[in-house]
Amino acid sequence: MKIAVMTSGGDAPGMNAAVRAVIRTAHYYCDEAFVVKEGYRGLVEGKIERAGRFSDCINHGGTLLKTSRLPEFSRDDIQQIAANNLRELGIDNLVVIGGDGSYRGALALSRWGINCMCVPGTIDNDIASSDYTIGFDTALDTILQAVDRLRDTSSSHQRCTLVEVMGRRCGDLAIYAGICSGAELVITNETGFDKQFVLDEMKKARLRGKQHAIIIITEGITDSTQLAKDISEYTGFGCRATILGHVQRGGNPTGNDRILASQLGSYAVDLYHEGRKNRAVGKVDGKLVNYDIADALEMKPKMSELYELIKKLG
Ligand code: ADP
Repeated sequence: MKIAVMTSGGDAPGMNAAVRAVIRTAHYYCDEAFVVKEGYRGLVEGKIERAGRFSDCINHGGTLLKTSRLPEFSRDDIQQIAANNLRELGIDNLVVIGGDGSYRGALALSRWGINCMCVPGTIDNDIASSDYTIGFDTALDTILQAVDRLRDTSSSHQRCTLVEVMGRRCGDLAIYAGICSGAELVITNETGFDKQFVLDEMKKARLRGKQHAIIIITEGITDSTQLAKDISEYTGFGCRATILGHVQRGGNPTGNDRILASQLGSYAVDLYHEGRKNRAVGKVDGKLVNYDIADALEMKPKMSELYELIKKLG
C-alpha cells in the first residue's frame, strides 16, 4: 500500500507525533509512506516525498511538515490537480491531520477517488467526533502557565485579570482553563455574553472583599481591552486584559497529546488495512472510534458539562 500523510490548517502541538505514528505504522505493515509538505497548497504544487523514519520529532511543537491555508481548494479543478499529483506517484491513500476545514478538504478529495483518513489536530477541541483533539491538552497547559503568572501579579495589585483565549467554535479551552485556574467567570460563545451581568458579578465580588479576580473569555466575543476598561470604571477593581494569542499554539506537546497523536495516527493506518474508506478517527470514552467524514462534520461540538462546575466553584 502507498500512504501519504500531511498536516493542514492551524498547527497544533502533537501533529509531529501523529505524523510519526502514521509513517511508522505504515512501515510496520511494509507499506510505502510519503509525506506532503505545506498542507493542501503543497499537495497542489506536488510537494510529495518518500518518508524517512521521522525521527527526533515526537517532542517538537508545531508541524515539521509545515502547514498552509488554501481557500482555492474548494474549487473542483484545484482538487483534481491534487488528486492527480498523488495518483501519478501511485498513491491513493492520504491521512490528513487538521481541523474541520481540513476535514472538508479531505471530503472533497475523496470525491476524486483518494481514500482519506482524517485525524483531529487542533488546539480548539472543536471536532465533535473525538472527545479530545490533538493539541488541546498542551494549549490548556500553556494557558494555565500564563494565568498562574497573571494571578501572581494581579493579586499583588488587587486587580481583576481578563484573559482572552482561543476557541471560536468551541469554548472548551476557556471552560477547562476556568476550572483549572479558579476563575470567577468564564465567557464563551456557548455561555453567551451579557455585559451588565459581568459588571454586576465583578462589583459583587469586589464588595465581598475579593482581592483579585480572573475572568476567562473566548476570542471574538467582544473587545476584551474595552471590557477590561468598563470593569475598572464600574466596579472599582482595576482590570487589565491579556490577549494570549498565538502563544497558545506553540510548545512541546504534553504526554497526553503525544499518546493521543500516536494512537490516532496509528489507528488511521490500521483502518486502511481493514479496508475502510474515508473515515474520521477519534477517541470517545477511552475507545478508538471512526466515522464517515461527512457524518463527523455534521456533529456539533457540545458545551462541556464542566461549565456547570464553574457555576458552583466560581
Ligand atoms: P483547520 O483545518 O484548522 O480548520 P482551515 O479551516 O483553514 O483550518 O482549513 C484548512 C484548509 O482546508 C483550507 O485552507 C482549505 O485549503 C481546506 N478547506 C477548508 N474548507 C474547505 C472546503 N469546504 N472544501 C475544500 N477544502 C477546504
